[in-house]
Amino acid sequence: MKISLIIPVFNEEAILPLLRTKVENLVKPLNFQWEFILINDGSMDKSKEIIDRWAKEDSRAVGVSFSRNFGHQAAITAGLAQSTGDAVIIMDADLQDPPEIILDLIKEWEKGFKVVLAVRKRRKENFLRRTVFGLFYRLFSFLVDASLKVDSGVFGLMDKVVVRHILLLEERNRFLPGLRAWVGFKTTRILYVRDDRSIGSPKQSVIKLLKYGMDAIFSFSYRPLRACFVLGAIMSATCFIYGFVLIVLRIANVNVVSGFTTITVSIFFVGGLLLISNGLLGEYIARIYDEVKKRPLYIIDEIVKR
Ligand code: UDP
Ligand code: MG
Repeated sequence: MKISLIIPVFNEEAILPLLRTKVENLVKPLNFQWEFILINDGSMDKSKEIIDRWAKEDSRAVGVSFSRNFGHQAAITAGLAQSTGDAVIIMDADLQDPPEIILDLIKEWEKGFKVVLAVRKRRKENFLRRTVFGLFYRLFSFLVDASLKVDSGVFGLMDKVVVRHILLLEERNRFLPGLRAWVGFKTTRILYVRDDRSIGSPKQSVIKLLKYGMDAIFSFSYRPLRACFVLGAIMSATCFIYGFVLIVLRIANVNVVSGFTTITVSIFFVGGLLLISNGLLGEYIARIYDEVKKRPLYIIDEIVKR
């Protein structure tokens, strides 16, 4: 049996040597064939040299370099496409996901599970990141159908059958945890504590994370669009009642002070609502545009292996 370990790398020169030792020591006692696929996602530092050296020295390692930075999800997709193992494990390069968990992932796979998710029971990252991630997962589960339970990141194991089906999904704006949940198969979860990065700063900028979060929500949920509709309907209904009340007051000859405020406030309020719903529509249209263009998700510049 062969297991592929996929590691996306973006400017991780500081941690790669440690990662290599950890991975090599971890797999040594295990009775499997291994393949380490390192995707260099357009790093500007020495990551490429380190990866290529590893690939030349170790026949298990493969170095795949992109022509530029295409992002975490593209790197993972490239790794999945390159993998030849019976099972695939995706892990970040920064050792935030402790490699020892791999042993537990494999144990579950041997029991017959096709997907093994590593679910964080606790995060040791800073308060802001922790809160934002927590909020995101809550918002996601509120917006998306209950059948798509997403409570984990990319870290986990997938059988090659699952990988094959995920690769058949051609969408550009990719959110792997969602796609993985969408294809289904027998799934189990194991809990672990997510460490903070051991070396270096996060390579996913806040902007990239925001884009990732929006990909997740807009590609798996139509509820924001529906919420616009419902909000609009409620607004119109309320205005109708309000108008009716005004007419009744008029007929009853109650002295209604006609205010300037009401009018301006309602104009701004409705204007805001319209802008919000336009923005939401725009998000979906932009995504449709992306899908229609059908550009490749990434471009490989070089593959190094022995
Ligand atoms: N990464 C990547 N391309 C990018 C940004 C990040 O391949 O454009 C890699 C990075 O090297 C790391 C993993 O994706 O191995 C996760 O990145 P990071 O630790 O910054 O994300 P976080 O832990 O905050 O989710
Ligand atoms: Mg990280």
